[in-house]
Amino acid sequence: MPGHATLAAEWEDLLTRRPAFQDSLHLFGVVLDAWGRWAPPGIPVLGLDEDECRRRWHAGVAVIVSSPPAFDRDSIEPLLAPVLQELAALGEEEAQAVSRFAEAWDEGRLAPESLLPGLSGEGRRRESEALGISADLLSFITYVGLRPPLEAYFGRVQPLFSPDLWDVGACPFCSAPPAFADLADDGKRWLSCALCGGRWSIGRLRCPFCDNRDARTLTRLAAEEQEEGYLIEACDVCRGYIKGVDRRVRWNAASALIEDWGTPHLDVIARGKGYWRATPSLIQLAPPGSTPG
Ligand SMILES: [Zn+2]
Ligand SMILES: [Zn+2]
Repeated sequence: MPGHATLAAEWEDLLTRRPAFQDSLHLFGVVLDAWGRWAPPGIPVLGLDEDECRRRWHAGVAVIVSSPPAFDRDSIEPLLAPVLQELAALGEEEAQAVSRFAEAWDEGRLAPESLLPGLSGEGRRRESEALGISADLLSFITYVGLRPPLEAYFGRVQPLFSPDLWDVGACPFCSAPPAFADLADDGKRWLSCALCGGRWSIGRLRCPFCDNRDARTLTRLAAEEQEEGYLIEACDVCRGYIKGVDRRVRWNAASALIEDWGTPHLDVIARGKGYWRATPSLIQLAPPGSTPG
């Protein structure tokens, strides 16, 4: 899992490669700055032993399910504050939603754990309705605000993982759906979690969202020319999609998270074909052309 300094350097490099996105993707620079500065004392770290982790993975249960984190609200605020400010600047509606979120957070009505998709399931949808915040916005805030504490939380169990222990579409650590796919030199298809930084592998011909394995209903859209190596993998049963990169062609591609953030044009294509993505993206909040500045 790349450190925050690596991610920041890769992001700089990506914006040099794709200068047209510098303004519309400005928010991610703010996110990376907040992550880079974040170093609170006493962040909880999960200390499960290897046998217990293996037992859970063999049973197809992500480790978070029986070992949910309890994060201190104050320690997460420095991650949320700068991002909320940027989100509020997207428009009047967003500003109101962000202020409702901030109010609920300050009053203690919102526990950080209640935002985690792997723990709350349907509860998160109710949370978004009760707060009057769109599910997309709430999800975006969750992903940018909780990644560093989740990385720290799973820091000791992540090295215990090996892909042969896990055969599920969702993240073995936090149970979130995958955000990006990498076709690696070893021919394996690796999935990445944008919420906790987890990484695992499942079969090439398999939808991570509904487990469809029928090649006739799995669609791969491959980009061409300068974009060669970039992919959209979509499922015609559940209509979910995930972007990806074939690293055998594009050996100099950045980390999955950076490539995901830096390819909003591929999300536009997938959405245009009627597919949905399971993890938040800026494109759901601010489609191209609607971002001020
Ligand atoms: Zn995860
Ligand atoms: Zn599917």
